[in-house]
Amino acid sequence: MKINQSLRVAIDAEAMERIWQWTALATGEFSCLAQVTPELRVHGAELFDQVNTAASTELDQAALAKFLCRHDKPEAVRAWIHSHGDLGVFWSEQDEACIAGLANESFLVSIVVNKRHQAKCRLDVFAPVRLTVDEVELEVRAPSLDLRTECERLFKQHVREAPLRPRLGTLLPANQPTPQRLMNVYHGWPATDDEEDFGHWR
Ligand SMILES: [Zn+2]
Repeated sequence: MKINQSLRVAIDAEAMERIWQWTALATGEFSCLAQVTPELRVHGAELFDQVNTAASTELDQAALAKFLCRHDKPEAVRAWIHSHGDLGVFWSEQDEACIAGLANESFLVSIVVNKRHQAKCRLDVFAPVRLTVDEVELEVRAPSLDLRTECERLFKQHVREAPLRPRLGTLLPANQPTPQRLMNVYHGWPATDDEEDFGHWR
């Protein structure tokens, strides 16, 4: 068993949408940070002050410190997301340095994306052992729209579920195999094409 196949990082649809918008707006690269729950759900993607070029996004330590100082839950900021613009998704030497620079007492989720909406995700554990798991599946999680009550009401209003008709096991008489009769045989219903026969459960 490969460990990356047993791991999955989920990202809220809203966070993913912000990342795609910023990816489209950036000429080249950009970085953002997000919170991660202990169950590895990424949410709350936020920008911080940065200067980027077409080919690099450097984490300004002073800007990062300012961002974390002002953050409500700095301890939950455990995801670093950056875009490669028009290039492919991979971990560059500079990315490895960024991840090492973001080392903390627990873990970091890193996601690299590009303008073609490709994404690669990895998990770095810093303690109690140093471990990197690359190629982790990233699953976009749709928001809960709380539609259960409304769907139940509409289902009860519009849908009738008929009981299954008894299977008679009778063969179609050789005379006139009409399409209706053939369908009836297929379903195991009486070999009849009499429309009225369906009336009792409509
Ligand atoms: Zn990179």
